[in-house]
Amino acid sequence: MHLIRLVYASKVEYDLEEADINAILNASKQNNLEKNITGALCYSNRFFLQCLEGSRLDVNALYHHILADGRHSQSAILQYSEIDQREFDDWSMGYIPPALVSGQLISKFSGKADFDPYSMSGESCYLLLKALASLGITES
Ligand code: FAD
Repeated sequence: MHLIRLVYASKVEYDLEEADINAILNASKQNNLEKNITGALCYSNRFFLQCLEGSRLDVNALYHHILADGRHSQSAILQYSEIDQREFDDWSMGYIPPALVSGQLISKFSGKADFDPYSMSGESCYLLLKALASLGITES
């Protein structure tokens, strides 16, 4: 079964509470472990940026499931590629909190210092997630 990586961004219309994020992470941990899906989720500036890694069919199905979630909208796939190995293999869904998303780091991968994944290339978004994950990642 081919291993693939899907990176997407989406928008949140109202500020999410910690409890909302925890609910998402708890569901992710359970479901992703069952499907052998790994990845990272970043939430900042009312944007989600998520990387999903796993078998093509399972990642595709999960993405369609996540699309139906009313907590976000305007989802856009930024990168979809076959990969040889996972980057976030230690996390069924590692969480990168807003506090880690600094303007200085964003500027390394984007033309502006505000976190806005829609204005970045898919590869830059993926590299940003990797850089953020190296700073610290939590999993509920
Ligand atoms: P149920 O609780 O039965 O949900 C039924 C439907 O309602 C689903 O479409 C669900 O998305 C939606 N829903 C649930 N809670 C709310 C709410 N508070 N407000 C609005 N709609 C709601 N799940 C994973 O398994 N793996 C992931 O990697 C993952 N990543 C996510 C990333 C983002 C940015 C978001 C917003 C959600 C993510 N989720 C993920 C959660 C996913 O969308 C489902 O809520 C979760 O998988 C439980 O689905 P269910 O059908 O079993 O749950």
